[in-house]
Amino acid sequence: MARQRARAIVGIPRAALHRALRAALPPESLVIGTEATGLDLSDPARPRVTRDGAPLEADLVVAADGVNSRLRAALFPGHPGPAYSGSTVLRAITEHPVELRTDFELSWGRGVEFGRIAFADGRAEWHAVVKTAAGVRHCDPLGAVRRRFGDWHDPVPALLAATRPADVLHHDVHELAVPLPSYTAGRVALLGDAAHAMTPNLGQGACQALEDAVVLAAALAAEPTPEAALARYDAERRPRSQAVARAARRAGRMGHQLTDPLAVAVRDPSDPVRPGQARRPAPPRLDAPAAHPSRLVRVYSVIPGG
Ligand SMILES: Cc1cc2nc3c(=O)[nH]c(=O)nc-3n(C[C@H](O)[C@H](O)[C@H](O)COP(=O)(O)OP(=O)(O)OC[C@H]3O[C@@H](n4cnc5c(N)ncnc54)[C@H](O)[C@@H]3O)c2cc1C
Repeated sequence: MARQRARAIVGIPRAALHRALRAALPPESLVIGTEATGLDLSDPARPRVTRDGAPLEADLVVAADGVNSRLRAALFPGHPGPAYSGSTVLRAITEHPVELRTDFELSWGRGVEFGRIAFADGRAEWHAVVKTAAGVRHCDPLGAVRRRFGDWHDPVPALLAATRPADVLHHDVHELAVPLPSYTAGRVALLGDAAHAMTPNLGQGACQALEDAVVLAAALAAEPTPEAALARYDAERRPRSQAVARAARRAGRMGHQLTDPLAVAVRDPSDPVRPGQARRPAPPRLDAPAAHPSRLVRVYSVIPGG
């Protein structure tokens, strides 16, 4: 009998994930709200981080300071750093539950995407991706999304109607288009977006950061020295996370970033929906890429209305 691989996808707010992770830690092990301002590697065996003006010695430093990582720039001065991906994302979590028939859906138009994921409490997160120049901002972001997507198929209008204007976030998407040659330097490990910031087209950036953390912890527990653990971490994590980043970039190029009508016609299913017309879900037509063996993605294609 064939094993069923598809599982329900359930979104959780980032703050809830942070709370769950923090609850598993002894409270005194975490200091928040403090900035690391410097890194001293003059003693290779005792890296020192400066915070609040005072040095902090460590056996190992994990640099997880995000896409604009200052530590990455210091450790790899020749690396060009993050680059604009060509897309901007407006997104929000609905204020109240919305009736949804599936847990996750994506719809593509020409140069745009609208996606949403259901939360266990009935609310949903939605995102609207637009291929555009960097830095474009709207005084009424929700109004801008409504103008662009408000006449799309169900449940897009309902999701927008359930959203408070103040809850809309807007970010230009940056990625490490040039992969790093190493995720370690001395006794420093780069982790998460600092190591491999990627486009969100496969929803994998934070997932890969979590995988990094698990592999690093396992390597430190198994290997006799931090150096051996870091070598193992780099060998295990760099090929996989960089492959996922490439796949995410490809997914964006073949998805919302397509604008050429011919390319869009090749990409789209034979039964595309028109704004305001589609009121029933199309059958699933895109199975998960290898990075998501359990994910079933439902994809629609939306023809721009007149
Ligand atoms: C629109 C969008 C949608 C996304 N959707 C998904 C998704 O569905 N699934 C998914 O898995 N990923 C998704 N991602 C990617 C995900 O948000 C990132 O990959 C993830 O947040 C990376 O985590 P991080 O801890 O490496 O970096 P961050 O979340 O950026 O955290 C870095 C932290 O370091 C802190 N910091 C920076 N410098 C210093 C310093 N000098 N001292 C002290 N602290 C410092 C920052 O304040 C920040 O808190 C999405 C990203 C975007 C933009």
